[in-house]
Amino acid sequence: MFKHNILLIVAKRNCLLTLLPLVLTFFSLFSSYSLANRAIEPPHNAKKESYFYAPNILIHVDNFGQAIKLFKWLDLIKLTNIGHQTLQSIDSSGHQLVIYHSDSALLSAGVTGAPLSSNLTNGKGESVYIKFYLNMEFAGSNCVMGKSGKYIKFSAIENLFHELVHAKHKMNGTWLYFDSEGQAIREENKFRKEWSIYRSTEVALRSEYGDRGDVKFNRNNRCVTRFSQLENN
Ligand SMILES: [Zn+2]
Repeated sequence: MFKHNILLIVAKRNCLLTLLPLVLTFFSLFSSYSLANRAIEPPHNAKKESYFYAPNILIHVDNFGQAIKLFKWLDLIKLTNIGHQTLQSIDSSGHQLVIYHSDSALLSAGVTGAPLSSNLTNGKGESVYIKFYLNMEFAGSNCVMGKSGKYIKFSAIENLFHELVHAKHKMNGTWLYFDSEGQAIREENKFRKEWSIYRSTEVALRSEYGDRGDVKFNRNNRCVTRFSQLENN
């Protein structure tokens, strides 16, 4: 009987140990989900002025100047076929995109967030926000690794388009969870190619992987050296 009880305790313990990762995963998903849900709403200080760019694309800015800047960048993106399709796909997804200015987005320049749910990958989609640093110049506030092996510009519209790709896939449920950056960079390169039609310079394509070299990268895999400094080197 005693031996039997010991076996029962060992079995229960093993069962609990087996379940532990599942329980932890559940709590981690649950907490990410609720955190992400709260993050969908921009902070109050980011809601000074609100404008609709399209029926399902809402922007929150600090001042009218930022609104004009963002509208202009979105209009420039829309000049390209891929930009037009991306914005159309966002607007017709049945979900809402909120783009808002945040000083905290200076280093990353842009962050796209959504509730962490299976809808991001099962074709249903979710409402999404893009936190963007709207005080940047057109030349951008970051640089990225190019296919050439050198650091290349990450202009405001390349940066914004990149975030719009993340948003489009999350809002249509076509987000590649394990290759989210690759998915956005591949479409960003198509945009770079199309955009080069409007410029006289040769197109600089972005590397999906890239050698990190001596330049410091932030957690979004972008070099934190300002491009203006890089140009002088
Ligand atoms: Zn990205």
